[in-house]
Amino acid sequence: MTALPRIRDVGEFGLIAALNSVLPHSARVNGRVTLGIGDDAAIWAPTSGTTSVITTDTLIEGRHFRLDWTDWRSLGHKMLAVNLSDIASMGAMPVLATITLGLTGDEHVADLEELYRGAVALAEPHDVAIAGGDVVRTTGPIVLSVTVVGEGEPLLRRDGAQPGDRLVVSGTLGASAAGLRLLETPDIGQGATTADLLVGAHLRPNPRIALGKVLARYGATAAMDLSDGLLGDLPKLLAASGVGARLDSRLVPVIPAVRALFPIHWLELALRGGEDYELLATVRPDALEETQREAAHVGATLTEIGEIVASPVGQSMLMITDAEGVTKAVPEGAFDHFG
Ligand SMILES: [Mg+2]
Repeated sequence: MTALPRIRDVGEFGLIAALNSVLPHSARVNGRVTLGIGDDAAIWAPTSGTTSVITTDTLIEGRHFRLDWTDWRSLGHKMLAVNLSDIASMGAMPVLATITLGLTGDEHVADLEELYRGAVALAEPHDVAIAGGDVVRTTGPIVLSVTVVGEGEPLLRRDGAQPGDRLVVSGTLGASAAGLRLLETPDIGQGATTADLLVGAHLRPNPRIALGKVLARYGATAAMDLSDGLLGDLPKLLAASGVGARLDSRLVPVIPAVRALFPIHWLELALRGGEDYELLATVRPDALEETQREAAHVGATLTEIGEIVASPVGQSMLMITDAEGVTKAVPEGAFDHFG
């Protein structure tokens, strides 16, 4: 049996040639990207009348992913998905992505090809060109960094929420965190037919690009995507907007599989679990119904979970009603990268 070639066997140029062979022409250029991989820089022409947005996000082995938990194709999906989610939260459409790989040289070339296949499979239906990248040597852990450029008009921001606005969230919360728990403690999901669904939510999140566009067009006053959990992210939107919120935890949408496998902690997973990559938005009351209807047209649900209130003086910016109907102040700092 011949050993599978590792990156150190083929070198940087061999790896780049292998990765390029995974990218069909249609994945390298699109209507706006006219020059992609192969030159010193990519060239793209923004659509006239739009504003450009750019975002970047890095995944580090051991911190953001584990190779014994994810396959490389799912990892390629996720490294792009988390960036597309940030583009979606701005109400923009993604245009191009660049990918930087920090590798030890021990990795198999075939695994990196799988990583790219996962990225391309998500990029193509959204017409995102893989327009360039870089490969660097590291002593480890593996680092995957993706930058995405998008465009749109109007765009959404975090700082536009007004008292009286309704607080809405897309899809359901907690499935990704539940999937992570199942990876950490496989005993919990043993025999459960829904285990794959939850693990899939964690490994292959679905960026809400079409919904972001709907929110931008129909009356959302502020939006962000949920990467650090509802109670971790909502305070960021409130702080940016200078407002407070009342959140009713009884209204937070959670799929039955999460409740069934985590009968005690399901609400905790939904409120504090991260990496849902759903959109959190504030919508004027008179625009709520139409926005929900338009969201349904792109296959998304928007659930009202609370309301924006004037910034309170001398108390927490966030009040939450628990399962028993008791309303309490939420202490700040549910998630912190350096905490
Ligand atoms: Mg974000």
